[in-house]
Amino acid sequence: MSDCIFCKIVNGDIPAKKIYEDEEVIAVHDIHPIAPVHFLIVPKLHIESLQSCSVAHERLLGKMLLLAPKLAAEQGLVGFRTMINTGREGGQEVFHIHIHVFGGGNSLPKI
Ligand code: AMP
Ligand code: ZN
Repeated sequence: MSDCIFCKIVNGDIPAKKIYEDEEVIAVHDIHPIAPVHFLIVPKLHIESLQSCSVAHERLLGKMLLLAPKLAAEQGLVGFRTMINTGREGGQEVFHIHIHVFGGGNSLPKI
């Protein structure tokens, strides 16, 4: 997807603060953090949203989810919140699926 900001990060066309990369996934610090630590787990494959996923993506989604505690610990978080905004009404702004992971500082507000 040539006009997708996360595809551009994956391809190295725009810079990002990368904290993890393998053949399928990258993780980068969010450019507008909402907590002391806030990063995004992004698949290299362009998938629009959770609504576009199928059983074919099961393994990739599982891998992304399991990266959350590993990378959170590496970032010094003892607890964290995960979030996947899905669709415009779900607050999604970048239509390339990603898991937000954030925490640190005072405890997060109850939701
Ligand atoms: P969402 O609302 O779930 O689609 O979240 C998109 C997130 O991507 C927001 O938290 C943005 O701050 C973040 N974001 C947008 N552009 C960049 C970028 N170039 N590098 C890192 N994070 C970004
Ligand atoms: Zn993309």
